[in-house]
Amino acid sequence: MASKYCIVCSSRLNMFSTFVGCIDGPICKSCLKHMKCVLTPENVESMHNQTLNEIRESHGLDPININENVIKANAIADGQIPAESSSEAIVPVEEVDPELAAIEAFTPTDSITKQIKFDDKSKQVIISKFRHIVYSPKVYTLHSYNDIVDFEYEEDGHVVTASGMGKALIGGALFGGLGFIGGGLMGRGKVKGDKCTKMGVKIIYLDNGKHETVYIPFIETSTKKNSFSYRVNKELAEKLILKLMDITKIVEDEKALAAPTNDLAETIKGYKQLLDDEAITQEEFDMLKRKAMGLDV
Ligand SMILES: [Zn+2]
Repeated sequence: MASKYCIVCSSRLNMFSTFVGCIDGPICKSCLKHMKCVLTPENVESMHNQTLNEIRESHGLDPININENVIKANAIADGQIPAESSSEAIVPVEEVDPELAAIEAFTPTDSITKQIKFDDKSKQVIISKFRHIVYSPKVYTLHSYNDIVDFEYEEDGHVVTASGMGKALIGGALFGGLGFIGGGLMGRGKVKGDKCTKMGVKIIYLDNGKHETVYIPFIETSTKKNSFSYRVNKELAEKLILKLMDITKIVEDEKALAAPTNDLAETIKGYKQLLDDEAITQEEFDMLKRKAMGLDV
């Protein structure tokens, strides 16, 4: 296959790239992820018959203009335009990965650890699996608060705090069935001994639908529990756990805000059932429905 370019970000696609073709041309994996397109066979099939802006519209996104150079370069790659006959030289399109661009522009609202940074405004995190970070946006991946599945804080292999997050229980507790403390912080009791050799926070998050784990160490060598170093690192670990609990709450609150819509649907469904059972008349149904929707009766 000749080189093609993503019609959204102009990044070059090769035979190893994941992309989906739409009427306007190919869309790369990270742009698809950005547009929150879920790649089921049905979705891919229907994207084939849509323009980019139709796809964007179906995801509630504003239309964008596609770079003409990208369209031309794709047409040449497809053999629709012979390269020689295109009078103007193709201006090489700049390769921009939108996820990388977002990570570069990421402005954290906290400074607990370099391995995971939070932005409460966009409700996103960037995560790095590298423990000793030489700063480069390339070591990070970008995720929404929603993608945080589970977390736990452990000292010397002893779980001090777990998340209590409902979604962790989907398919069983991810951290080996210790059970979860509902919102309780540091509730699992003291770790015995006057030294700590290992302290860290483990986080499970979703990356393109797959569970990934990142371990963030705070203590890695034998440290006395009455030392300054122990206290400072414990405070940081606790701060991180509190932050993770915080964002869990943000996600839960958002879900709760969305709930009334479902309630309305449930209410109307209930009236419809009464109508179908002939317990109420069509007129009564219309009246109840209008009332439920907050309209004048
Ligand atoms: Zn792209």
